[in-house]
Amino acid sequence: MTSSSQAQPGQPPVPSAEAQALHRALFTLDSHIDIPWPDRGDAFEDTETRRVDLPKMQKGGMSAGCFVAYIAQAMVNAEGHAQAQAQCLAMLDVINTMQGTHNGVTARVCSTVAEITAAYEAGVLAVIPAVENGYAMGDNPAVLVQFRAKGARYVTLTHNGHNALADAAVHRPSLGDKPENHGGLSVLGREAVREMNRLGLLIDVSHASKKTMLQAVAASAVPVVASHSCVRTLCDHPRNLDDEQLDALKESGGVIQITAMPAFLKPKDENGARSAGVSAFVDHIDYVVRRIGAEHVGISSDFDGGGALADWQNATQGVNLTAELLRRGYDKSEIAAFWGGNFMRLLARAEAVAAEQTGTIG
Ligand SMILES: [Zn+2]
Repeated sequence: MTSSSQAQPGQPPVPSAEAQALHRALFTLDSHIDIPWPDRGDAFEDTETRRVDLPKMQKGGMSAGCFVAYIAQAMVNAEGHAQAQAQCLAMLDVINTMQGTHNGVTARVCSTVAEITAAYEAGVLAVIPAVENGYAMGDNPAVLVQFRAKGARYVTLTHNGHNALADAAVHRPSLGDKPENHGGLSVLGREAVREMNRLGLLIDVSHASKKTMLQAVAASAVPVVASHSCVRTLCDHPRNLDDEQLDALKESGGVIQITAMPAFLKPKDENGARSAGVSAFVDHIDYVVRRIGAEHVGISSDFDGGGALADWQNATQGVNLTAELLRRGYDKSEIAAFWGGNFMRLLARAEAVAAEQTGTIG
């Protein structure tokens, strides 16, 4: 098919030739992707069970992805911390195996802007490690050095449930959480923020409580990122950022990476049903652009961590998002900023601050 005209029943419209060409020409980075755990050793296979594997990224014109070592919140005690740390290091090791050439796909694990850029220029997929949940460092900020040594570029302060660093947006009474345990960041959390700044790790405020997020913005020497969150004014979910939080992001130079989680994108309709696609996703981008500017918003899928839209089901379908952005009137430079330029600016800033503080790069 050559135009955007004909859609198969139940299928999204075929993207225009212009959208397809633009998508192929862009540097496209997805800032939040989970990995299966336990590992199945199938990152280089096009599997039915993964929404993101390296062949799907290549087929879908994706350039780079942040793959997270996600650690579920459990009890805040020495045993829980030891388990979380061990699992996180093991998951980062698996993410570090996602390189080389297999099945006609070449990927490289990258942990600096220079490495990501070099991979892109070589036509090689860039795999960027990250950590989801500061629980993985337990109560010892020195563990962050090990995460960075394994290539991690951001740490999400919390998941669902408070940890030793900070309060989360969603508390877990079953783990003994009060609505607030710390009133935002703990003393340890502030120490972790300083250490992350020193190491070039971005501070990810997705999953953090509002107080934690605003305190992290104030405490961090580097603008923070929300690696996978949406807009609370459009969908009142505690995982989303409200206008005051968006304004704080703008003030500090941070970025919100809108994510493909239907429950964060659209309230249920009067029948209790919800269906969200790239149109709802771009509604959230539009809102952020109007309120705080196009330099403060980006794109994440949360694929294999619960994310998926009707017309963005896996890494082969990112072009549908590019097509919708074109339909809304965004130009190439704006779409490039959303698809990775803004996130890369934060990585570069984190590297610059780390270099100032330690005399080394990244
Ligand atoms: Zn998450």
